[in-house]
Amino acid sequence: MTQSVDILLTNAIVLTMDEKLTQYEPGAVAIQGDHILAVGLEADLIKAYDAKERIDCGQKVLMPGLINAHTHVPMTLLRGLADDLRLDVWLMGYMLPVEREFVNPDFVSLGTSLACAELIRTGVTCFADMYYFEEHVAQATARAGMRAVCSQTVLKWPAPDADYYEESLAASREFIQRWKGHQLIVPSVAPHAPYTCTQEILQATAALAVEFDVPLHTHLAETALEVENCRNENGMPVIPYVKKQNIFDAKVLAAHCVHVDDGEIKTLLHHGAGVAHNPSSNLKLASGFAPVKKMLEAGINVGIGTDGAASNNDLDMFEEIRLAAFLSKGYTGDPTALPASTVLSMSTRLGAKALHIGEITGSLEPGKRADLILVDITRLHNAPRFRREKNSIYAQLVYSSHSTDVSDVMVNGCWLMRDRQLTTLNETELISNAQEYASRIDQFLIKREKSVLSKLIAIGGATEGESFEVQSKVRIQDPAPILEAIQKSELEILRHRHYHEFDTYFSFEDPDQGFLRYREDEFLSENEQVSTVRYRLTLIGPAREGTFPSEVLLSRSRFIAPAPHSLRFYREYFKPTSELMIEKYRLRWRVLFHGTEFFINLDHVTQPALGYFLEIKSRTWSRRDAEHKAQLARDLISYLGTSPEAVEPLDYVEIIRQAH
Ligand SMILES: [Zn+2]
Repeated sequence: MTQSVDILLTNAIVLTMDEKLTQYEPGAVAIQGDHILAVGLEADLIKAYDAKERIDCGQKVLMPGLINAHTHVPMTLLRGLADDLRLDVWLMGYMLPVEREFVNPDFVSLGTSLACAELIRTGVTCFADMYYFEEHVAQATARAGMRAVCSQTVLKWPAPDADYYEESLAASREFIQRWKGHQLIVPSVAPHAPYTCTQEILQATAALAVEFDVPLHTHLAETALEVENCRNENGMPVIPYVKKQNIFDAKVLAAHCVHVDDGEIKTLLHHGAGVAHNPSSNLKLASGFAPVKKMLEAGINVGIGTDGAASNNDLDMFEEIRLAAFLSKGYTGDPTALPASTVLSMSTRLGAKALHIGEITGSLEPGKRADLILVDITRLHNAPRFRREKNSIYAQLVYSSHSTDVSDVMVNGCWLMRDRQLTTLNETELISNAQEYASRIDQFLIKREKSVLSKLIAIGGATEGESFEVQSKVRIQDPAPILEAIQKSELEILRHRHYHEFDTYFSFEDPDQGFLRYREDEFLSENEQVSTVRYRLTLIGPAREGTFPSEVLLSRSRFIAPAPHSLRFYREYFKPTSELMIEKYRLRWRVLFHGTEFFINLDHVTQPALGYFLEIKSRTWSRRDAEHKAQLARDLISYLGTSPEAVEPLDYVEIIRQAH
């Protein structure tokens, strides 16, 4: 008695990628609606099933669709935006500012559709995404007919889709409620990474994932620096730290896990966490080598991902699979590490398990969804075929096949590509719309790169705004009389501080850009010990607004921002044409002189050895007030015992020029 089915795929080399790596040749797969009814030898299935549509696969490989275990699909629109940079410069200098400016629902929809077209073409049927406006990622993915775990990002900084993390958390909840139970989309929440989230965010997202029994997607232990910082701040490495925040109460999908030790691998295993290994991204950003062989041997479900297109730069899983094998062999010095069948399992069955959707996809088995691809292995770069050894087919797919050998893709029982023609997406239109975005982003960056100020604003911290400063700076021979004068009664001392300052001045080709100063301020206590350190960036405008008689200067004041990154970061980001380092000891008094507030700085410049300087400063917001303060500044200089006639007026900008 024959049973009726919708589709019977015949005449194929069927690789089920099940636990036993069962193969059938010539094999067949029977599909009913959205799921697989039977997998077996062609002769058996033809006898057992009466198909509404029988498709001859022409001896191609019929296997489960590939699973991209970690990506950020909308970032296809940022592909090639900035490359060959360090992670912090790339992320803080380019990705985040551009994302803040451009990422909106339209961007996300287009980027997702572009990515889906590329993923389908390269044999991917399912992916795990993490981005902003995940609602629109999910919608575009479902429209394209692909399967995905879609994770709404939550982080402690303002994001393109939320000013506060509470907003993204609330959006995640609504997103999960809307999509839970969808036939293609598994909604999920993504605390971006331990270093971009607070403990509160990690705990809240874990609780949310547990409440709705959905996966929690995050980046863990990607770089050595992340682990080092985590140790310094929390006294433990990354995995125990996030465990303490309860994230392993949830079904975790952890991208990277490059820097994890044996104990941490045990923790990941014990809590059933899935890992996404991203070989291209780890290589391109020089993040290190993940202990993939160890994690697999321990029994962790390790999938393979491309990461975002901005750090790869394509979404080609065939390339990723091959690289995963090569990387592991090269890194361990063992050519038997990660054999072809293993990396192919990682990109199918184990990948699905890492995403916590192993029961519905990842292998060709009765009851699972019909997510499958056809791969032509008869082309020139893949000829000839040896058949003596059963496993050589896996080597053919991993080491010789190209993603362009994929001819047909089915997800959930529907064809998304038939004979290399996409059925749900218009490639020409997508490419042209993407180009429009690229041109707009180019314009934005060209404009930004012209101005040091807008680059400073782009990385956050500095706010746009202007004030003025009345200042007078004079070289002095002996600080003793000044120290004595300050103690006299006409001055009311409001505060006194002692600093050791290291200034690095960046200058630029265009002198109109001014100077950018990176200052490390060490606060010295009474016994000359460093009590605290402060890092600041100051953009010193080029224009001197004017001078007053006797060398009191009105300068356009500065844009000041905290400097949370390293000097190296700013050097690589601002690309100055020259640099100068100045080291000085500064005694600073905030005083009231005839009812007006002034700063008195007594500097000993030791590097270069320029000697002593006295500096009088006062901030002002109007020119009229500046005139009044300029007069007082002259009086104060006289009061401190140095006559304006005798002084040599200088400012540090001039010092820099002298020193060059
Ligand atoms: Zn990522």
